[in-house]
Amino acid sequence: NHTSDGGRWSNARIEAYGPISLDPAASVLHYGQEIFEGLKAYRHADGTVWTFRPEANAERFNASARRLALPELPVEAFVTSLKELVAADRAWVPSGDGEALYLRPFMIATEAFLGVRPAREVSYRLIASPAGNYFGGELKPVSIWLATKYARAGRGGTGEAKCGGNYAASLAAQLEAEENGCQQVLFLDPFNDNAVEELGGMNVFFVMADGTVVTPALNGNILHGITRASVIQLLKDRGLKVEERKFTLDEWRRAAENGQLREVFACGTAAVITPIGLLKTTEGDIASPALPQESLTLSIREQLLGIQTGAVADQHGWLTRLA
Ligand code: PMP
Repeated sequence: NHTSDGGRWSNARIEAYGPISLDPAASVLHYGQEIFEGLKAYRHADGTVWTFRPEANAERFNASARRLALPELPVEAFVTSLKELVAADRAWVPSGDGEALYLRPFMIATEAFLGVRPAREVSYRLIASPAGNYFGGELKPVSIWLATKYARAGRGGTGEAKCGGNYAASLAAQLEAEENGCQQVLFLDPFNDNAVEELGGMNVFFVMADGTVVTPALNGNILHGITRASVIQLLKDRGLKVEERKFTLDEWRRAAENGQLREVFACGTAAVITPIGLLKTTEGDIASPALPQESLTLSIREQLLGIQTGAVADQHGWLTRLA
């Protein structure tokens, strides 16, 4: 817990999982002053448990905290909370193929009042749950739905922060996606030539026929995905040219039509890397070419998942041992 009275964190403890009690006037319930993170802990072949770049999640958590006027949590305290919870019962961490313990740190405003201002009392908590493969076992290309009626974020808004409000704003679009047989929704920036931003919970990459890989530049709206940053690094390690730039829906459509587009994939902690087979839109669908036998999508996925699960050497020092 944290009170701005002295600005201190106190009362760190592990307690049995169960409902928490909040005052009905707790400001998180009314004004959505809340942030969260998502990480996975994998059990390696020798039984030890590791997570991927937790300092990056801690730093993003603090960037979200600043945007939502919440207190920052020292990076070390964030990482220690992960270690202590996992160490409390390592048996939690599944050992099946691609299975992990999903870790969900979050911070909520608990002070009870009915005015609009930052709360002076907040609570940081961490819960965890075993998680399988996000889109089911086999890795087949997913279909995504283009949101045109709804935006997830806008200039100066909270798009870059990992806060509940962004996800609340995307739910109606997600529902629309599901009604149209799609698993995820794609958001554009309608005020910037329909530049591609991101999916509801993943960043997106385009592999062009000349070998260049394009991903939307961080523009203040999209989440600074940790998988995104890691994929960029792994692509550069392979000597590939990566362009972080504006990539519009028009350019996507043209590239698909004239054979310049080779692969499209999305990435994030939950699903790691998933090929995108189809973008469904009310103005005509954009199909990705069939995934080639030796696709960059699958090879990067294997490498990244390999690092996370301990099967591939961690050359960048991305792993932190939790237990
Ligand atoms: N964009 C959004 C909106 C997300 O919710 C996520 C998942 N955290 C991502 C991108 C991917 O980020 P990461 O690679 O850090 O999981």
